[in-house]
Amino acid sequence: MKYPALVIHKEHLKQNIAIIKNLCQENGISMTAVTKCICSIPELTQVYVDAGVTEFGDSRIENLKKLSYAGINRWLLRIPMHSECAEVVRHAEISCNSEISTMEKLSEEALKINRRHKIILMADLGDLREGVMVLELPDYVEKIVALKGIELIGLGVNLNCYGGIIPTVENLSQLLTAANEIKSRYGVELPIISGGNSGSIHLLTSKTMPVGITNIRVGEGILIGCETSYQQQVLNANLDVFTLHAEIVELKEKPSVPIGESGLDAFGEKQIYPDRGMMKRAIVACGRQDVSADKILPLDCSIEIIGQSSDHMIIDVTNASKAYSVGDVLTFSTSYGAVLSLCTSEYVNKILR
Ligand SMILES: *Cc1c(COP(=O)(O)O)cnc(C)c1O
Repeated sequence: MKYPALVIHKEHLKQNIAIIKNLCQENGISMTAVTKCICSIPELTQVYVDAGVTEFGDSRIENLKKLSYAGINRWLLRIPMHSECAEVVRHAEISCNSEISTMEKLSEEALKINRRHKIILMADLGDLREGVMVLELPDYVEKIVALKGIELIGLGVNLNCYGGIIPTVENLSQLLTAANEIKSRYGVELPIISGGNSGSIHLLTSKTMPVGITNIRVGEGILIGCETSYQQQVLNANLDVFTLHAEIVELKEKPSVPIGESGLDAFGEKQIYPDRGMMKRAIVACGRQDVSADKILPLDCSIEIIGQSSDHMIIDVTNASKAYSVGDVLTFSTSYGAVLSLCTSEYVNKILR
């Protein structure tokens, strides 16, 4: 086998999709499956389709283009660039937006190909990434309804990202208040009120999602098995859909403190090296070009990652519970950030089981 390898358990993925899809269904809301983290790899998105998913979200057009299934809606989640509007209306049925100038462009491009492009207007409820401040939403709607190539189908919010703000009954209710005002002022029905990402799952498990929220967009919850507001496992979701496997290329006794005049490391940073005496150190062929070491954990708890450069990871195996040799393969659990870069790195072998 070629290493480093990212092993993906399709059966566990399938179970996680079912668990979260059912949870949404029980709460009377729809789920948009977010596939950006797995680069919309067709063999994996097929698992979602087989599980009955019809709403797909991704932030990149390249990934949306790979989603060529009949009867699905493709959502572009990252608010579009002006320069990509022509592509957006061709490869996404729905996009999330916050800028009038961009929606004007989308409208123009949609009319050119005789389509109406659907829009979710993003609201900012305090996380301070994308979105219109909530009190300004109705004024935006007035401008959007005048655009002939655009159909406004809903409001959305993203939390838990820049500001780390947790979705609550209080902040999500502001979205519903805005939706009601828009309905009464402009007579616009908004079937989709999308109340966040995997950080909103806790409101479903506690059955406190405000009535009127009709959708959430879920990436990490399915892929990693945890919600992101409190890092709790979602019901009995699998935590091991992904594992990383990497090979030992050197195994030697060396001191723990570098020898000589001390400057900066490979990334221009000054490191501190505690003196732990002589160590047994393994070098694993997996570097920052594959994944950042602080995003993964060895499954063997008796060993510890102590450093990483572009192509090498150094592991303290002094107290290892088993005797390792050069050529052995170590296994690591992966966080969301790890899966994101491992899927993106062309040097990582993806093995679907
Ligand atoms: C990435 C993203 C999501 C999915 O977030 P998860 O935490 O992976 O569930 C949802 N909405 C938007 C706008 C995103 O960019």
